[in-house]
Amino acid sequence: MDNAERQMRFLYALRSRGVTDPRILSAMERVDRGAFVTGIFAERAYEDMPLPIACGQTISQPSVVALMTEALELTGRDKVLEVGTGSGYQAAILARLSRRVYTIERHRRLVRAAREAFAELGLGNITVVHGDGSFGLPDQAPFDRILVTAAAEDPPGPLLAQLREGGIMVLPVGQSDAVQSLIRVRRLPGGLDYEELRPVRFVPLVEGLGTD
Ligand code: SAM
Repeated sequence: MDNAERQMRFLYALRSRGVTDPRILSAMERVDRGAFVTGIFAERAYEDMPLPIACGQTISQPSVVALMTEALELTGRDKVLEVGTGSGYQAAILARLSRRVYTIERHRRLVRAAREAFAELGLGNITVVHGDGSFGLPDQAPFDRILVTAAAEDPPGPLLAQLREGGIMVLPVGQSDAVQSLIRVRRLPGGLDYEELRPVRFVPLVEGLGTD
């Protein structure tokens, strides 16, 4: 199968999972997922499934990346925080659709690999930070959008505090060994509004830095 055919099948799989936003489909067409998957799984980069990456982590399923991106209602002018860089694929999609992306990862090895992938793809509006993303990035707050790609039992307080008024945060909430709920939180003038979007399954949001 050549690249064009692979890409066509990839987009077809996304559409058949309900991804309809043309801006998101276009961003996903332009960011090569193959640049974020290495080793024996590289062959499967264009399938709609999560795949293992280094440090025992995963690159999310493309249709889930698309649906989470859609849920953020990006305007093209947003300052976005992502918690859980992983491979960097989701951050690269966000970078195509927003002004500036900060992404935090607790494993140094994943931080290095993501920085290299962004440089190769010429994505200059992403900053990758090595740290515990549960605390957000107070120096850069407030954020217009926050996306968490690891599951916490409750939305972390520091992240809620770093969401600008009118801002949106999307995150999986629930126990790590169970099906979790994807939640959308809006900071409205009168307070926080919570909306349950769909069931998902993510690796847990872990405290502290990784050892590798
Ligand atoms: N967004 C990623 C992608 O596109 O490949 C997928 C992320 S993976 C499902 C979740 C990531 O969150 C893992 O790389 C994990 O190390 C990271 N993570 C978990 N807890 C974290 C924390 N407290 N701070 C930062 N990163 C964390």
